[in-house]
Amino acid sequence: MLIDGYGRKVNYLRISVTERCNFRCQYCMPEKPFSWVPRENLLSFEELFEFVKVAIDEGIDKIRITGGEPLLREDLDRFIGMINEHKSGLDLALTTNGYLLEDTATKLKKAGLKRINVSIDSLKPEIAAKIAKKDVLGRVLDGVEKALEVGLFVKVNMVPLKGVNDDEIVDVMEYAKKRGMRIRYIEYMENIYAKAGLKGLNGKEILSKIKEKYSIRKVGREGSNPAFNYITDDGYKFGIIDPHKHDFCESCNRIRLTAEGYLIPCLYFDEAMSIREAVKAGDIAKATEILRQVLRNKPEKNRWSEDGAEESARAFYETGG
Ligand code: SAM
Ligand code: SF4
Repeated sequence: MLIDGYGRKVNYLRISVTERCNFRCQYCMPEKPFSWVPRENLLSFEELFEFVKVAIDEGIDKIRITGGEPLLREDLDRFIGMINEHKSGLDLALTTNGYLLEDTATKLKKAGLKRINVSIDSLKPEIAAKIAKKDVLGRVLDGVEKALEVGLFVKVNMVPLKGVNDDEIVDVMEYAKKRGMRIRYIEYMENIYAKAGLKGLNGKEILSKIKEKYSIRKVGREGSNPAFNYITDDGYKFGIIDPHKHDFCESCNRIRLTAEGYLIPCLYFDEAMSIREAVKAGDIAKATEILRQVLRNKPEKNRWSEDGAEESARAFYETGG
């Protein structure tokens, strides 16, 4: 079992399989062009899998594949199949922008994937295009329909932004509700790569928009899930991921691995250790030692909740959010 320095049990690994993305979301990617990590620096699926086995042996039982856009990585279903065959019953999920989902959903389901989260920030084509800096909505919505059709369990993620999509909070909820999908609103986390001046809605502001139409009741946090949950008067349960709240980090159960092999103890901080050489050399003992060290380095809490804290220098497209 993996226990960090603050007594938190860590059982959740998020793997960013690429930092490349086919979108340029305002809240995630830099405004100006930048260079990607050269492809040869990415760990292969076999190398990532070496670490996955170590992590599972140490107590990880929940894995989420993310990015960048994970579906840009060719044959992602092969990687999912490798993990699924190694340990069935693992909670294995994927977070995607949905753009390539229509063509990949069947393969992903066949490989053993059960759950996906799709980011939908707007149901208006022009607003979705403004956020992603590309005309994306039609393909994303088709991808969601396909995922549901093949039997994937789908959740929706939305990042509400002031003056951009904050008038669609209820609409996106109702879109999800109609299809039997849960929605989680994610508070915008300030970072140096996002568009300057961008302002997110906090949990309270998100709730007040929903209260204009529904009465709601608090349900609370469920286990180590980062969302604080609520239920509407007509029985629809939704969550708000609120990293600006003081108690957000108390039950944090996760670590993150990047495509280059950096193991990151917290989404906010720049700190990381590389498992790259260890997995390339097949050195299981070293990889295990690094994993345990990263656990010891896990900070008590992020700094988004602090007044006047600086924006995070961590790139969401590298760490996978
Ligand atoms: N490309 C995939 C996607 O967009 O779903 C997976 C990677 S993305 C980094 C994972 C999640 O992080 C998405 O739901 C996205 O909305 C969220 N995200 C990215 N930047 C964020 C930010 N600055 N604040 C809050 N959420 C953010
Ligand atoms: Fe790409 Fe996801 Fe970041 Fe948007 S949030 S730019 S889709 S990695």
